[in-house]
Amino acid sequence: MNYITNPTRMTYENQRKMIFSLKKAYPFIGVNIIGKSMCQRNIYSLTVGKSRNPVIIAAGFHAQEWLTTLLALRFAEIILHSKSNRIPIWGVDPSGITRSIIIVPCVNPDGVEIALNGFESAGRFSEICRKIAAVSDDKWNSNARGVDINHNFDAGWNELRRMETESGILGPSPRRYGGYAPESEPETKALVYLCRLYTPRMVIALHSQGEEIFWEYGNKKPPRSEEIAKIFSSVSGYNLIENSGLASHGGFKDWFIDYFNKPAYTIEIGKGENPLPISDFDGILKNCIPMLTLAALL
Ligand SMILES: [Zn+2]
Repeated sequence: MNYITNPTRMTYENQRKMIFSLKKAYPFIGVNIIGKSMCQRNIYSLTVGKSRNPVIIAAGFHAQEWLTTLLALRFAEIILHSKSNRIPIWGVDPSGITRSIIIVPCVNPDGVEIALNGFESAGRFSEICRKIAAVSDDKWNSNARGVDINHNFDAGWNELRRMETESGILGPSPRRYGGYAPESEPETKALVYLCRLYTPRMVIALHSQGEEIFWEYGNKKPPRSEEIAKIFSSVSGYNLIENSGLASHGGFKDWFIDYFNKPAYTIEIGKGENPLPISDFDGILKNCIPMLTLAALL
Protein backbone atom coordinates (compact mmCIF):
# COMPACT_ATOMS: atom_id res chain seq x y z
CA MET A 1 0.00 0.00 0.00
CA ASN A 2 1.15 3.55 -0.75
CA TYR A 3 0.86 5.60 2.38
CA ILE A 4 0.01 9.29 2.57
CA THR A 5 1.92 9.45 5.83
CA ASN A 6 5.31 8.56 4.38
CA PRO A 7 8.35 8.85 6.61
CA THR A 8 9.76 12.35 6.28
CA ARG A 9 10.84 15.26 8.48
CA MET A 10 7.67 16.28 10.26
CA THR A 11 7.72 20.02 9.62
CA TYR A 12 4.51 21.98 10.16
CA GLU A 13 4.04 22.12 6.39
CA ASN A 14 4.40 18.36 6.01
CA GLN A 15 2.08 17.75 8.93
CA ARG A 16 -0.60 19.94 7.31
CA LYS A 17 -0.13 18.32 3.91
CA MET A 18 -0.62 14.88 5.43
CA ILE A 19 -3.71 15.95 7.40
CA PHE A 20 -5.37 17.49 4.35
CA SER A 21 -4.45 14.52 2.15
CA LEU A 22 -6.00 12.19 4.74
CA LYS A 23 -9.15 14.31 4.78
CA LYS A 24 -9.32 14.15 0.99
CA ALA A 25 -8.84 10.39 0.87
CA TYR A 26 -11.12 9.67 3.84
CA PRO A 27 -13.74 12.44 4.01
CA PHE A 28 -15.39 10.86 7.07
CA ILE A 29 -12.47 11.87 9.29
CA GLY A 30 -13.08 14.94 11.45
CA VAL A 31 -10.37 17.59 11.27
CA ASN A 32 -10.50 20.35 13.87
CA ILE A 33 -8.27 23.06 15.21
CA ILE A 34 -8.21 22.75 19.01
CA GLY A 35 -6.00 25.76 19.59
CA LYS A 36 -3.16 27.92 18.32
CA SER A 37 0.45 27.77 19.38
CA MET A 38 2.39 30.75 20.70
CA CYS A 39 3.39 31.55 17.08
CA GLN A 40 -0.21 31.09 15.89
CA ARG A 41 0.32 27.70 14.28
CA ASN A 42 -2.72 25.45 14.33
CA ILE A 43 -2.92 22.57 16.77
CA TYR A 44 -5.00 19.96 14.95
CA SER A 45 -7.12 17.09 16.10
CA LEU A 46 -8.29 14.23 13.90
CA THR A 47 -11.39 12.32 14.92
CA VAL A 48 -12.37 8.87 13.69
CA GLY A 49 -15.85 7.78 14.77
CA LYS A 50 -18.62 9.72 16.44
CA SER A 51 -19.37 8.05 19.75
CA ARG A 52 -18.74 9.45 23.20
CA ASN A 53 -16.07 8.05 25.46
CA PRO A 54 -13.13 8.51 23.09
CA VAL A 55 -9.49 7.65 23.51
CA ILE A 56 -7.15 10.59 22.93
CA ILE A 57 -3.71 9.95 21.47
CA ALA A 58 -1.47 13.02 21.57
CA ALA A 59 2.04 13.42 20.16
CA GLY A 60 4.67 16.03 19.43
CA PHE A 61 4.93 17.49 22.95
CA HIS A 62 8.70 17.78 22.73
CA ALA A 63 10.43 19.47 19.82
CA GLN A 64 13.01 16.76 19.16
CA GLU A 65 10.38 14.01 19.31
CA TRP A 66 8.67 14.73 15.99
CA LEU A 67 8.80 11.09 14.94
CA THR A 68 5.85 10.68 17.37
CA THR A 69 3.82 13.01 15.10
CA LEU A 70 4.49 10.75 12.13
CA LEU A 71 3.51 7.70 14.20
CA ALA A 72 0.23 9.34 15.29
CA LEU A 73 -0.62 10.27 11.69
CA ARG A 74 0.30 6.83 10.37
CA PHE A 75 -1.90 5.23 13.01
CA ALA A 76 -4.75 7.49 11.87
CA GLU A 77 -4.17 6.40 8.28
CA ILE A 78 -4.08 2.71 9.18
CA ILE A 79 -7.38 3.00 11.07
CA LEU A 80 -8.99 4.97 8.23
CA HIS A 81 -7.78 2.56 5.56
CA SER A 82 -8.89 -0.41 7.60
CA LYS A 83 -12.37 1.01 8.28
CA SER A 84 -12.88 2.02 4.65
CA ASN A 85 -11.83 -1.32 3.24
CA ARG A 86 -12.91 -3.56 6.12
CA ILE A 87 -9.43 -4.94 6.48
CA PRO A 88 -8.44 -6.18 9.93
CA ILE A 89 -5.64 -4.36 11.73
CA TRP A 90 -3.39 -6.73 13.60
CA GLY A 91 -6.22 -9.28 13.50
CA VAL A 92 -8.79 -6.83 14.88
CA ASP A 93 -11.97 -6.32 12.87
CA PRO A 94 -12.27 -2.53 12.44
CA SER A 95 -16.06 -2.68 12.84
CA GLY A 96 -15.35 -3.65 16.47
CA ILE A 97 -13.74 -0.26 17.04
CA THR A 98 -16.95 1.55 17.86
CA ARG A 99 -15.74 4.28 20.17
CA SER A 100 -14.10 7.31 18.68
CA ILE A 101 -10.39 7.96 18.48
CA ILE A 102 -9.13 11.53 18.71
CA ILE A 103 -5.56 12.05 17.54
CA VAL A 104 -3.61 15.23 18.26
CA PRO A 105 -0.56 14.72 16.06
CA CYS A 106 1.45 17.73 17.22
CA VAL A 107 0.85 19.54 20.50
CA ASN A 108 3.94 21.73 20.12
CA PRO A 109 4.20 22.72 16.45
CA ASP A 110 6.47 25.73 17.14
CA GLY A 111 8.97 23.60 19.03
CA VAL A 112 9.08 21.00 16.28
CA GLU A 113 9.58 23.73 13.70
CA ILE A 114 12.47 25.16 15.76
CA ALA A 115 14.01 21.68 16.03
CA LEU A 116 13.80 21.13 12.27
CA ASN A 117 14.24 24.60 10.79
CA GLY A 118 15.95 26.70 13.44
CA PHE A 119 15.01 29.72 15.55
CA GLU A 120 13.99 31.77 12.51
CA SER A 121 10.76 29.77 12.50
CA ALA A 122 9.82 31.16 15.94
CA GLY A 123 8.88 34.53 14.39
CA ARG A 124 8.79 37.29 16.99
CA PHE A 125 10.21 34.86 19.55
CA SER A 126 13.35 34.09 17.47
CA GLU A 127 15.65 36.40 19.41
CA ILE A 128 14.34 35.25 22.80
CA CYS A 129 14.88 31.63 21.75
CA ARG A 130 18.47 32.34 20.70
CA LYS A 131 19.19 33.94 24.08
CA ILE A 132 17.59 31.06 25.99
CA ALA A 133 19.52 28.51 23.92
CA ALA A 134 22.83 30.33 24.30
CA VAL A 135 23.16 29.47 27.99
CA SER A 136 22.56 25.74 27.59
CA ASP A 137 23.96 22.82 25.61
CA ASP A 138 20.57 21.12 25.54
CA LYS A 139 18.73 20.59 22.29
CA TRP A 140 15.49 22.58 22.06
CA ASN A 141 12.46 20.71 23.38
CA SER A 142 10.24 23.56 24.61
CA ASN A 143 7.67 25.77 22.93
CA ALA A 144 8.56 29.11 21.31
CA ARG A 145 9.10 30.91 24.59
CA GLY A 146 11.09 28.29 26.43
CA VAL A 147 8.37 26.43 28.30
CA ASP A 148 8.43 22.64 28.32
CA ILE A 149 4.80 21.76 27.54
CA ASN A 150 5.03 18.45 29.36
CA HIS A 151 5.94 20.33 32.55
CA ASN A 152 3.16 22.91 32.21
CA PHE A 153 0.13 20.82 33.22
CA ASP A 154 -1.48 21.38 36.62
CA ALA A 155 -0.17 18.41 38.60
CA GLY A 156 2.16 18.70 41.59
CA TRP A 157 3.07 22.25 40.67
CA ASN A 158 4.94 23.24 43.85
CA GLU A 159 6.94 20.03 43.91
CA LEU A 160 7.77 20.46 40.22
CA ARG A 161 8.99 24.03 40.82
CA ARG A 162 11.16 22.83 43.70
CA MET A 163 12.70 20.13 41.48
CA GLU A 164 13.35 22.65 38.71
CA THR A 165 15.03 25.09 41.08
CA GLU A 166 17.22 22.30 42.48
CA SER A 167 18.31 21.49 38.91
CA GLY A 168 19.17 25.13 38.29
CA ILE A 169 16.23 25.78 35.97
CA LEU A 170 15.02 29.20 37.05
CA GLY A 171 13.36 30.49 33.90
CA PRO A 172 12.72 29.80 30.20
CA SER A 173 14.92 26.98 29.00
CA PRO A 174 15.37 24.64 26.02
CA ARG A 175 13.84 21.93 28.21
CA ARG A 176 12.25 21.22 31.59
CA TYR A 177 11.03 24.72 32.54
CA GLY A 178 7.36 24.46 33.52
CA GLY A 179 6.31 28.07 32.88
CA TYR A 180 5.25 30.84 35.25
CA ALA A 181 1.99 29.08 36.13
CA PRO A 182 0.24 25.81 35.28
CA GLU A 183 -1.51 25.92 31.90
CA SER A 184 0.16 29.24 31.11
CA GLU A 185 0.86 28.10 27.54
CA PRO A 186 -1.70 27.96 24.74
CA GLU A 187 -0.51 24.49 23.70
CA THR A 188 -1.26 23.10 27.18
CA LYS A 189 -4.61 24.90 27.31
CA ALA A 190 -5.64 23.36 23.98
CA LEU A 191 -5.17 19.81 25.24
CA VAL A 192 -6.80 20.51 28.62
CA TYR A 193 -9.79 22.03 26.80
CA LEU A 194 -10.08 18.96 24.57
CA CYS A 195 -10.06 16.62 27.57
CA ARG A 196 -12.60 18.66 29.52
CA LEU A 197 -14.85 18.73 26.47
CA TYR A 198 -14.81 14.98 25.81
CA THR A 199 -13.90 13.34 29.14
CA PRO A 200 -11.94 10.63 27.35
CA ARG A 201 -11.84 7.17 28.88
CA MET A 202 -8.10 6.98 28.33
CA VAL A 203 -5.27 9.15 27.02
CA ILE A 204 -1.93 8.25 25.51
CA ALA A 205 0.96 10.69 25.26
CA LEU A 206 3.58 9.69 22.71
CA HIS A 207 7.17 10.67 23.49
CA SER A 208 10.59 9.35 22.54
CA GLN A 209 12.73 7.57 23.52
CA GLY A 210 13.36 4.50 25.72
CA GLU A 211 10.80 1.81 24.76
CA GLU A 212 9.07 2.43 28.07
CA ILE A 213 5.53 2.86 29.38
CA PHE A 214 4.73 5.14 32.34
CA TRP A 215 1.30 4.64 33.83
CA GLU A 216 1.13 5.96 37.42
CA TYR A 217 1.13 9.39 38.96
CA GLY A 218 2.77 9.21 42.37
CA ASN A 219 0.75 6.54 44.15
CA LYS A 220 -2.32 7.21 42.04
CA LYS A 221 -3.35 4.20 39.99
CA PRO A 222 -6.72 4.69 38.27
CA PRO A 223 -8.99 1.65 37.90
CA ARG A 224 -7.93 -0.64 35.01
CA SER A 225 -4.74 1.28 34.38
CA GLU A 226 -2.33 -1.38 35.57
CA GLU A 227 -4.06 -4.18 33.63
CA ILE A 228 -4.06 -2.12 30.45
CA ALA A 229 -0.41 -1.16 31.00
CA LYS A 230 0.50 -4.85 31.22
CA ILE A 231 -1.34 -5.58 27.98
CA PHE A 232 0.44 -2.67 26.24
CA SER A 233 3.76 -3.93 27.50
CA SER A 234 3.18 -7.49 26.34
CA VAL A 235 2.14 -6.53 22.80
CA SER A 236 4.87 -3.92 22.30
CA GLY A 237 7.80 -5.40 24.20
CA TYR A 238 8.16 -2.03 25.93
CA ASN A 239 9.04 -2.00 29.63
CA LEU A 240 6.61 -0.92 32.32
CA ILE A 241 8.19 1.66 34.60
CA GLU A 242 7.07 1.20 38.20
CA ASN A 243 6.67 4.11 40.59
CA SER A 244 7.75 6.57 37.95
CA GLY A 245 5.56 9.15 39.65
CA LEU A 246 8.16 9.93 42.27
CA ALA A 247 10.17 11.89 39.76
CA SER A 248 7.35 13.21 37.60
CA HIS A 249 4.98 16.16 37.86
CA GLY A 250 3.40 18.61 35.47
CA GLY A 251 3.04 16.14 32.58
CA PHE A 252 -0.09 15.49 30.54
CA LYS A 253 -0.35 11.94 31.95
CA ASP A 254 0.14 13.25 35.50
CA TRP A 255 -2.59 15.87 35.17
CA PHE A 256 -5.03 13.49 33.46
CA ILE A 257 -4.67 10.85 36.19
CA ASP A 258 -4.89 13.48 38.92
CA TYR A 259 -7.91 15.26 37.44
CA PHE A 260 -9.98 12.41 35.97
CA ASN A 261 -8.70 9.33 37.82
CA LYS A 262 -8.73 7.45 34.52
CA PRO A 263 -5.94 5.58 32.71
CA ALA A 264 -3.24 7.72 31.11
CA TYR A 265 0.05 6.58 29.62
CA THR A 266 3.29 8.14 28.57
CA ILE A 267 4.74 5.88 25.93
CA GLU A 268 8.39 6.46 25.04
CA ILE A 269 8.77 5.13 21.52
CA GLY A 270 12.02 3.82 20.03
CA LYS A 271 15.51 3.72 21.42
CA GLY A 272 18.50 5.93 20.75
CA GLU A 273 19.22 9.61 20.76
CA ASN A 274 16.56 12.23 19.96
CA PRO A 275 15.67 13.10 17.32
CA LEU A 276 15.38 9.44 16.38
CA PRO A 277 16.32 8.81 12.74
CA ILE A 278 13.54 8.31 10.21
CA SER A 279 15.08 4.90 9.45
CA ASP A 280 13.85 3.72 12.88
CA PHE A 281 10.24 4.38 11.93
CA ASP A 282 9.26 0.95 10.55
CA GLY A 283 10.54 -0.86 13.63
CA ILE A 284 8.73 1.55 15.93
CA LEU A 285 5.55 1.15 13.94
CA LYS A 286 5.71 -2.63 14.29
CA ASN A 287 5.94 -2.36 18.08
CA CYS A 288 3.34 0.37 18.49
CA ILE A 289 0.48 -0.46 16.12
CA PRO A 290 -0.84 -3.39 18.21
CA MET A 291 -0.69 -1.20 21.32
CA LEU A 292 -2.49 1.75 19.73
CA THR A 293 -5.08 -0.55 18.15
CA LEU A 294 -5.82 -2.10 21.53
CA ALA A 295 -6.03 1.37 23.07
CA ALA A 296 -8.88 2.06 20.65
CA LEU A 297 -10.69 -1.04 21.92
CA LEU A 298 -9.99 -1.21 25.66
ZN1 LIG B 1 9.12 13.85 25.53
